[in-house]
Amino acid sequence: MAGQNEPSQRHDDISIPPEFTELIELRSTAIARKLGYPGRARFVIFGYAERGGEVFWKDGQTSGFGLGHWQFLLEKIEPLASRYGAELGGEGKTATHVLVVDRVRRLTYVTCRDCAASFLARIHGRPLPARKCLCDSGAQAGPALRERG
Ligand SMILES: [Zn+2]
Repeated sequence: MAGQNEPSQRHDDISIPPEFTELIELRSTAIARKLGYPGRARFVIFGYAERGGEVFWKDGQTSGFGLGHWQFLLEKIEPLASRYGAELGGEGKTATHVLVVDRVRRLTYVTCRDCAASFLARIHGRPLPARKCLCDSGAQAGPALRERG
């Protein structure tokens, strides 16, 4: 008798695009909550909104701001992301990348804004954004991905 059409169950076969880089240091951390996301979607984009100086989030259905959570983004996550060649923004920096959080698996990825938008559009069956992806233009910061000790 329970409802069988739970929308949150539909993403079992989602594959993560190759342009996504996992921030393995953030595994098992409740990143979405720490960034002020109040909803229940599985995949959520987070980024730094320079104009408002706040965290913005988009889950494909709705969007908003994680008010008061910019400090966690800029102080804890941005330095980590930059080691992976991603730029989340901040004072004097232009944000080119965003986070994509998988709330079910508790994984956090960085990718360019357009790749993230395309991913979310694909999940929700919407037309893909027309903008050109930064990953294709060679604008990405470089191969810092495997650098370790
Ligand atoms: Zn891209």
